[in-house]
Amino acid sequence: MRAVVYHQPELYKIEEVPERPLAAGEVRVRNLVVGVCGTDAHLHVGEFGPRWPLTPGHEIVGEVVEMADDVVDLAVGDRVAVDNTIHCMHCENCKRGDFNFCLNGVALGVQAPGGFAETTIASGTKCYPIGDLDLDAAALIEPTACVVHGLDVLDLQPAADVLIIGAGPTSQILAQLIVHGGASRVTIAAPTQFKLDVAASHGVNQTVLLDRNDFTASADQLRTLAPHGFDAVIEASGAIGVLQHVLPHVKSGGTLMIYGMASETSTIEIHPYEIFRREIQIKGSFAHAYGFARAIQFLRAGKVDPSGIITHRYSLDQYDQALASLRAPGCLKAVVEPQR
Ligand SMILES: [Zn+2]
Ligand SMILES: [Zn+2]
Repeated sequence: MRAVVYHQPELYKIEEVPERPLAAGEVRVRNLVVGVCGTDAHLHVGEFGPRWPLTPGHEIVGEVVEMADDVVDLAVGDRVAVDNTIHCMHCENCKRGDFNFCLNGVALGVQAPGGFAETTIASGTKCYPIGDLDLDAAALIEPTACVVHGLDVLDLQPAADVLIIGAGPTSQILAQLIVHGGASRVTIAAPTQFKLDVAASHGVNQTVLLDRNDFTASADQLRTLAPHGFDAVIEASGAIGVLQHVLPHVKSGGTLMIYGMASETSTIEIHPYEIFRREIQIKGSFAHAYGFARAIQFLRAGKVDPSGIITHRYSLDQYDQALASLRAPGCLKAVVEPQR
């Protein structure tokens, strides 16, 4: 089968990879739609702990084509979303149920072969049947699972006034779920007007066009909207220039959630006195653990609406374009369709 294969950072080829036989519990999935994500750009340059050779692609939706004899509750022909995380289940964190902090954790598309390939091998227990869910909606299951985890971490109070910074795909999903989740107002601030328009079309109450390189230029507008700050500010862009200036926009007693992925070496300055005096909580949210079932429920119920989010589609051979699309101003979410 054909796959995107990196042997080192920044250098990959579409290679013919031999199909290995399935081990106990495993399933072979014929990949139908695989989301391209900011993480793939970090992996491209060797960040985020990749293991070489690497086939990236961690947002996998496909069709079961082969199963080991012991796999239960699945059938050949089932369309499934693949939870890309593999937890050891025996380290101290797994034994506490903190699967996200598994000391031996592996992710398909990061340390194990992922979805930018014609087929992927996954554990049967990590394949979630999607029935007749539309493939564009299914492509958002993994990002929605990450958002579900983010909402668990955020633990939002009813009627909260929420600011989301960034309008990428996960910000869009976050915004939609917070709109449905009991906030009194959701504001989204980002540098690209059409992405703000997509968010507004899904019920976001306020949009603010911001300059990512000069966040302070938008400060007045945010201050007018929330003179004493927002109950929760979710930084989902990963932009250090934004993170550095965002704390004054968190209400006293409020929460800043770091949801975007900054570069591993970036740092910001924080005034401990401000955190202390204003009792601000700073939370992080990373990936997902057992958010897939709830993500599928949200997509099935239409509480996450994919319309307007997937803007670009590529074949495996166009992986360079798929990666480049992450920086294209007209792209919100790109997917690779490996059978094209
Ligand atoms: Zn992702
Ligand atoms: Zn573990």
